[in-house]
Parts: sequence; structure tokens; C-alpha cells
Amino acid sequence: MKTIKTIKEMKEFSSQARRTGKTLTFVPTMGFFHEGHLSLMREGRKRGDLLIVSLFVNPTQFGPHEDFKNYPRDFQRDSKMAGEVGTDVLFAPEVGEMYPPDHQTNVRVEKVTQNLCGRARPTHFQGVTTVVLMLFEMVMPHVAIFGEKDYQQLVTVQQMVKDLHMSVEVIGMPTVREADGLAMSSRNTYLLPEERKAASSLYRSLQKAKELLQKGEQRADRILLEMKEILQSEPLVRIDYAQICDAHTLQDVNRIERDVVVALAAYLGKTRLIDNLVFRNL
Ligand code: AMP
Repeated sequence: MKTIKTIKEMKEFSSQARRTGKTLTFVPTMGFFHEGHLSLMREGRKRGDLLIVSLFVNPTQFGPHEDFKNYPRDFQRDSKMAGEVGTDVLFAPEVGEMYPPDHQTNVRVEKVTQNLCGRARPTHFQGVTTVVLMLFEMVMPHVAIFGEKDYQQLVTVQQMVKDLHMSVEVIGMPTVREADGLAMSSRNTYLLPEERKAASSLYRSLQKAKELLQKGEQRADRILLEMKEILQSEPLVRIDYAQICDAHTLQDVNRIERDVVVALAAYLGKTRLIDNLVFRNL
């Protein structure tokens, strides 16, 4: 596996690979890899000739009081894991090169970023779309792979690609979970043992939503009530939101008739976790 640290070298590598007719697949990440990241990389490996993984903890997607400084980082470990699943290039640019002091351009996707995580993190998605656009420009992938774990991020990136007529196919992959259902996340490493135990309630509440939907329940408020009961039975869990939204527009729905995403965010101590389940063709 080759490691590239400068934008110039990344662009040269991709231009050259494209000239020789190679299909480039791309997995953008913030590192501290787990099975969720690796599943995206394995998919990327299958879909193209060259797999490029970026590792960049993007400062602009963190709010002023969020965990940018403490975000877990382990380059050696990540490098080994990415290599083992067949990554061809690990692209790890420097913050100073990505955002020189006179940086002043941002990409903002409007409607789909307003609800859900956009409420508590008003600048987050602008940071995501700006860095993803920059990375696409540097890596020049034919296919980019994202996790459904960050469902609003996936929809936002797809909207950006559509609106700006970009030449990349964006693919979503299912959420990889721990044995008790907790969605894998680099932030799970922050959890104290008691918090880790309580965190399984997020998945249990989503399973309850699934059960009710399968029984034919169409009233969003009934489902949310039962989900919140499960979450509130854990004193260590503080709900940020639990919502049922149209899976495409991300607007809240009252009556569930089309594709929906049941999405939630909750704090366990200082750690904010998110999870969701998407239901299609109801
Ligand atoms: P991150 O490093 O957290 O920014 O995530 C990089 C990519 O991995 C994003 O597309 C995430 O949605 C995806 N991802 C993170 N956790 C999971 C998971 N548990 N299952 C599947 N994909 C994931």
C-alpha cells in the first residue's frame, strides 16, 4: 500500500491511473478504523481497479465545543488495517494544506441538512460537504462509498453530487454492528463500561420501531413513544432526538406510508452517538 500525504501527489497519481483506464474507488474516513470502515473498503476493493482511502480528521465538521482535539487517532494501526483489506493508496493530507489560512469557500446543501443532526450541529454538514468536494477533486474517483450509519451525511453527499452535476457515483453501505447491536463508531472508544452497556438501548429502540412497523403501525408518534420509553429506561442515556423522516427529503412524517428513516441521537455522558434504520417499500 502506498501512502500519499500531499494533494499534488494525489492528483498526479489519480490522473495517471485514469489515463491508463483504471476505475478508481474511494472511501473517505476520519480514521481509527473498525469493521464498519473495513466493510466499505472491501466493497471498494470489489468495485474498482484501485482503492483509495482517505484519512483526514476534518476540523471544519466539528463544532467549537466538540471533540476535534480528542478524536481518536492511530496512524500506524489504521495503515496496517487498510493495507490488510487491499487498499492501494492511503491518502492522509495535512490540515494546513487542506485549509490554508486564506480558505474562504464552503459548500452548503440546504434542505436535507436542516433537520436531525443539523439542528444540534448547524455547521457540521457544511464542513462535510466542503471536505468531500475537495477530496473528490483530489482523488477523482469513479465510485465513492459511504456508510448508512451516517444516513443524513450520505443523503447530503448524494444531493451535492446531483445538484453540482458531479461525475462520481455515491454508494451507501449497511451499518456494521457489535454483537449487542450497537453501531460501530470510532467514538465508542470514549464510552465508560457502564455507558457502553446502556448504549445497546439505541439499537433496542430501533428494533422496537421495526417490530411495530412490521405489525402495520403507521403512526409515527406511537412508534416514537415506545422508542423513547426504551431509551429513557436507561438513566445514562440522554436523548438528543428520535425522529421518523421521509428517507429522501429527511422531513418528519406523521403517517408512515413511504420510505422512511427512523433516526436517533443520544448522549452517553459526553459522548454523542447516532444510529438509524431505513425502511423501504413499506
Ligand atoms: P468516519 O471515519 O466516522 O467519518 O466514517 C467514515 C465512513 O465510514 C463514513 O461513510 C461512515 O458512514 C462509515 N461508517 C462509520 N461507521 C460505520 C458502521 N458502523 N457501519 C458502516 N459504515 C460506517
